[in-house]
Amino acid sequence: MAATQLSFSEIKERVNIEQVLPLVGLTLKRYQSQLRGVCPICKEGGDRAFVVTPAKGLYYCFGKCSTGGDMLSLVANVKQCSVREAAEFIAARTGITGKRSGDNSTAPGDGSPQPLSGKEGLKPLEYLQASHEAVQALGVRAETCEHFGAGFAPKGIMRGRLAIPIHDMAGTLVAYCGRAVKEETPLLILPNGFRPDTVIFSAHRLEQGDTICVTRDPLQVLKAYENGVTNVVSFLGDITADTLHILALLMDEKDVPSIDLF
Ligand SMILES: [Zn+2]
Repeated sequence: MAATQLSFSEIKERVNIEQVLPLVGLTLKRYQSQLRGVCPICKEGGDRAFVVTPAKGLYYCFGKCSTGGDMLSLVANVKQCSVREAAEFIAARTGITGKRSGDNSTAPGDGSPQPLSGKEGLKPLEYLQASHEAVQALGVRAETCEHFGAGFAPKGIMRGRLAIPIHDMAGTLVAYCGRAVKEETPLLILPNGFRPDTVIFSAHRLEQGDTICVTRDPLQVLKAYENGVTNVVSFLGDITADTLHILALLMDEKDVPSIDLF
């Protein structure tokens, strides 16, 4: 079949991830700009843990997978086949063998970078390594790290960890947290005197009116972002009355209609 001659990028150009969902038996519900449902791969995390962002052609699972990708990796993971086989499957089922089926204007790969206001905040650490192998081993690309200003810390108090900048709601840099890159505990270290229950990680990046996904690990925010999900934040410590108060303020200020806690 001519279909097998198509390159991965040709397929992604001509088929929308939304068209692929029914081919693998997926029915998802629309929430604003996302489609959500039970993860067909791990089936964990609840009925909104699996998020497809059609405008970006990407999916992400907040459940056990904690990973995502494009339509090819979606089909490959659901059908447990190779990416090449997934491509052939999509091409055959959508009948793309030559004729262009139309529009499919693809949105830019990632959201607009958020300039930091920077006033009176901490100075960003210059020495973080966005493409360090320990960070790649966590499943985070260098571009994602750069977007968040994160990177492997070869020195300093976050030494040997993924240092991730934390901002207040105004976007001012207030601290760095050090996320474990291996099995070490604790998962997060924070500077002495910094109260993790006073900040919600990445809250300043939320758009007005977004539903939000709240996780308990800032790494999950980076990985979700990499896979098209931008309305996601994380707690940085135990959930306390103060944390919930901050969350309530956030919901009020950003006009958040609903939240999902993962
Ligand atoms: Zn999953």
